[in-house]
Amino acid sequence: MTSNIPAINTYPRSYYAASAADSMVSRPALTDATETDVCIVGAGFTGLYTALRLTEAGKRVVILESARVGWGASGRNGGQAILGFSCDMPPLEAQLCYEEAREIWNLMRASATEIRQRIAQYGIDCDWRDGHLWTSILPRRESSLRQCQHDAAEKWGYDALRFIPKIELPDWLGTDHYCAGLFDPGAGHLHPLKYVFGLATAAESAGVQIYEQTAVVRYQEEGNRVTIESEKGKVTAGALVLAANVYLGDLDKNLSRRIIPVGTFMVATEPLGERAQALIPSGVCVTDNQFILDYFRVTPDERLLFGGGCTYLGGTPRDIPAAMRPALERVFPQLKGVGIEFGWGGMIDCTVHRTPDFGRRGNVLWAQGFSGHGVLPTCVAGRVLAEALLGDDTHLRIFMKLSNPPFPGGKMFAAPIEAAGKLWYRMRDMF
Ligand SMILES: Cc1cc2nc3c(=O)[nH]c(=O)nc-3n(C[C@H](O)[C@H](O)[C@H](O)COP(=O)(O)OP(=O)(O)OC[C@H]3O[C@@H](n4cnc5c(N)ncnc54)[C@H](O)[C@@H]3O)c2cc1C
Repeated sequence: MTSNIPAINTYPRSYYAASAADSMVSRPALTDATETDVCIVGAGFTGLYTALRLTEAGKRVVILESARVGWGASGRNGGQAILGFSCDMPPLEAQLCYEEAREIWNLMRASATEIRQRIAQYGIDCDWRDGHLWTSILPRRESSLRQCQHDAAEKWGYDALRFIPKIELPDWLGTDHYCAGLFDPGAGHLHPLKYVFGLATAAESAGVQIYEQTAVVRYQEEGNRVTIESEKGKVTAGALVLAANVYLGDLDKNLSRRIIPVGTFMVATEPLGERAQALIPSGVCVTDNQFILDYFRVTPDERLLFGGGCTYLGGTPRDIPAAMRPALERVFPQLKGVGIEFGWGGMIDCTVHRTPDFGRRGNVLWAQGFSGHGVLPTCVAGRVLAEALLGDDTHLRIFMKLSNPPFPGGKMFAAPIEAAGKLWYRMRDMF
């Protein structure tokens, strides 16, 4: 398996990179041969969660990162740690038995607790705040919020969700764009780049070795060992974990055929002073329930972070602030003409059914297909992969029952099919 991904030394110019500049640490590239129990490709949330659990259990772990720690989606996302995979529970229920779907739900609940515990345990300064609000723009989708609340309580034993009718929304949001909301106190939001830096520091303190600017170009399984090669170095390991997101490319074509890269974009306004508090008086993070959704929250330095849009196969608008402004001003008309200081994009790894793709083939394990919803689910992935490597693959076997076929016709056909799908969903969102 080979790849020609280049080594990258800089972070994209984002609000996160600017506000976490003080915590940036450079790590060396791998330039020789080394031996370890587990080698992980990718120093994002998935790789770091897996590494932390393995090292806590006494395994030797090496992480190889082609760019910098948190350079991928983990360091540029909306920071919304929401319970649930992108596909939601119905596709999981359709493919698994009740007990298995319930186990996945329980894993998500446990991950919401684990994130809070890790932040406290390692003293990670990442602006964590409790609370998430799903919102509905269309009255007919209000019922899906109620259904979600009902299912969470009745099927999954989670009765913390609270339905917010339109009349109460002004206590939560400074906009009348929405007709209802669903509040989840178990979710929350954080500064993802500071958080991923904190996880990396914790992993290193526990003994994990992280090499940056070390693009893995090929790997090979020989007997019960895996040899992983970068341009200048080589790792021989008992197992390999691929935690490379959409950047996996030719390193493992069988896996990368099962995801397509979808671009999503974010902007950060100038500091808004007192106006910020009025936008989201409740301090929660917010996501609407459109197919092509908006997500936003306010930062401790009183900026609005607003994300949304999507482009298939990784295309990026030439001027991200200009492309995002209409959506931002639609939600908050009072911010018309507001200064936008940062605009950046990133890629999400969508599977055909938006179900997570976790698996194992011999001594090679992987987790991908978070489909735009990974801040909390990557914590589940780290646990599931680490457990399997430590001898208990009960959870991994549940995930491996999910069907994640290759995109029909490969990426060439995935683009027009997905573009047509996007148009269809946009029309459904409008009417
Ligand atoms: C703009 C944006 C907003 C988002 N907002 C949210 C949100 O609010 N809430 C939410 O739940 N999810 C969100 N997501 C999704 C979430 O960020 C991801 O699902 C999650 O971060 C994936 O983590 P990861 O570790 O699997 O991948 P990544 O963080 O992308 O890490 C993969 C790493 O692997 C490295 N790599 C790849 N190939 C190689 C190679 N050959 N050799 C060495 N290294 C390699 C890459 O450089 C990269 O650093 C968002 C994503 C984006 C892009």
